[in-house]
Amino acid sequence: MSVTQIFAPSATYRLAISTPIPAPAPVIMASNHLPDYVNTGNNVPRRLVTLRFDTVVTNPQEDLLDQIAATELPNIVARCLRAYHGLRTRAKEVGGFWKAVPPKLLEWRNVLAASTNKLHEFLAMDDDERGFSITRVEGHVTWELDLQKLFEGALGGKYVADASVFTQFGFTRGAKAEYACLGCKQAAKARGGKCCEAYSHSNRRQKVLIYNMKVTRGRGPPTEDE
Ligand SMILES: [Zn+2]
Repeated sequence: MSVTQIFAPSATYRLAISTPIPAPAPVIMASNHLPDYVNTGNNVPRRLVTLRFDTVVTNPQEDLLDQIAATELPNIVARCLRAYHGLRTRAKEVGGFWKAVPPKLLEWRNVLAASTNKLHEFLAMDDDERGFSITRVEGHVTWELDLQKLFEGALGGKYVADASVFTQFGFTRGAKAEYACLGCKQAAKARGGKCCEAYSHSNRRQKVLIYNMKVTRGRGPPTEDE
């Protein structure tokens, strides 16, 4: 097991002290609640494997621990080792741990990410709940400013740009503002074919663009009569 480092996410805590802690062993956390922190940059969740134990045992067997220790323990250990070995082999075959894990683990990871990152929650919402759809369309761009307005309309909270969350959903956030055409709202293109007929040097603005994202409004916001 290689030595990794865990960084306390400094933006999260009032007394912001970021201390590298050498962590030569995996850390196991157990809790009755999802971890409560602000997740920006996805630095914590991408290292967490979340297992949910959400079956409530209402009538626990009193001597369960003794019975497991007496009769089942060797079997449980053997099964764990076999599963671990299988996972390692599969991760090698498919080229990555997260590609090899059961789909349930990915689901739980998304639940955790949505509960600690508002942008993740927003992008993972159902179209019906959000009132418009956000889809991945290769080559299409959306202005971050437009997305921010929709985010604030849907969730009410403060929008925090987070490139890693966009990446998780298959979008790419431009690292800096670049020219967008006011005619077609796409990345402004002059040479090599205009983006549209309305394009000109005076008809463009610097905008932060989210690549491969298309926002489609549904039936529009409800009117007062509805
Ligand atoms: Zn254009």
